[in-house]
Amino acid sequence: MSTTQIAAALFQLQQLDLELERVTAEQQAIVHSLSGDSTLQKLRAEYNTVQQQLHSGQQAQKEAEWALEDVNRRLAMQEQRLYSGAVTNPKELSALQQEVQRLRAQQNRQEELALEMMESTESLQEMAQRKAKVLQQAEEDWSKGNAALVTRRDQLETRRQELQTKRTQLTVSIDAELLKRYDTMRRSKQGRAISKVEQNSCQWCRVILTASELQRVRISAELQTCSNCGRILYYDR
Ligand SMILES: [Zn+2]
Repeated sequence: MSTTQIAAALFQLQQLDLELERVTAEQQAIVHSLSGDSTLQKLRAEYNTVQQQLHSGQQAQKEAEWALEDVNRRLAMQEQRLYSGAVTNPKELSALQQEVQRLRAQQNRQEELALEMMESTESLQEMAQRKAKVLQQAEEDWSKGNAALVTRRDQLETRRQELQTKRTQLTVSIDAELLKRYDTMRRSKQGRAISKVEQNSCQWCRVILTASELQRVRISAELQTCSNCGRILYYDR
C-alpha cells in the first residue's frame, strides 16, 4: 500500500470508529430510558393516593347516610307518638315535644353533613377520573415510545455489528504498530488521529500547509503529521 492508501485506510477506520461511538452512546441512552420512567411512577402514585382518598370519602359518606337514616327513624317514631294522642300526661308530653325538637335539629345537622360528604366524594370521583385518564394516556405513550425505542435499539445493534465487521476487515490491511499509534493518538486527540487536507489546510485545526508540506503529504513514503495539531494528514485526491 502507498502512504496515501495507508492514510486513506486510517481515515476510513476513524470514520468507522466515530460512528461506532455514536451508535454505542445512543444504545446506552436507550437502555437507560427503557429501565424506568419517573414521570409514570409519579402519576401512578398520584392516582393511588386519590383512589385511597376516594375510598375513605365513600366510607365516610355511607356512615353519614346511615346516621341520617337512624335520626330519621327515631324522629318518625317520636313524632308518631306525639301525634297519636297516646301521651296525655303534660310533663311527659312536654318532654316528648322537646325530644322531637332535638331530633329535628339533629336531623338538619346530619342532612348537611351527608350532603357535604356527597359533594366531597363527587369531587374526589372527578379527580380520580381525571388522574386515571392522564395515567392511561401516559402509559399508552410510554408503550408506544418503548416500542419505538426497542425497534431503534435493535437497529442500532445491527448497525453496530456491521460496523464492527467492517472495522475488523479494514484493520487486517493495516500494520499493527500503526494501529497502536492510531489508537493512542485517538485517545489523546478527541477521537481524531487523522485529519484530512482540505483547501491546503488541516481540516481539524485549519492551519495552512506550506507548499513543501503539501508536497510531502502527497508523495512522501512516511506518514506526515500536522505541524500545529500533530494529527496524521490524509490527502484525498
Ligand atoms: Zn492540524
